[in-house]
Amino acid sequence: MNNRRGNFFYRLKAFMQGRYGRDSVTFLLLGIAIVLMILSWIPKLWFLYFFSIAIIVLSILRSMSRNFAARERENRMFLKIVDWFRKVFHEIVSFFSTRRRMWRERNTHSYYRCPKCGCYVRISKPPKGKKIMVTCSHCYNQFVKRT
Ligand SMILES: [Zn+2]
Repeated sequence: MNNRRGNFFYRLKAFMQGRYGRDSVTFLLLGIAIVLMILSWIPKLWFLYFFSIAIIVLSILRSMSRNFAARERENRMFLKIVDWFRKVFHEIVSFFSTRRRMWRERNTHSYYRCPKCGCYVRISKPPKGKKIMVTCSHCYNQFVKRT
């Protein structure tokens, strides 16, 4: 019994030799397939079940592919897209956390945008009606602001 199972895995390994195998795109496809399968439980969306099966078959065929260059190109493209989304997400989060901080510190600190690099410069709140020189902590650009 044990020997037979070992034999199976040995044969599977031999079969997958020289084939692409799985990567992050495989997981994405399987993830989409699972979501579609769950959605197909909704009576009007039953046809999604077939899409789900099709995607699973596609991901299996993809992992058996011998065209490494094409599969790696897909994987790289996918990772690039993920990276882009991560960057956008990070920017959105930092935008809101900056706004929140500005609001929380509105009585004690002032924020000015550096005209050169676009970063926010945080300084303790100056008295009103004065001209002040602000130095950017990122690019050391100096600019004058009226408070
Ligand atoms: Zn700057």
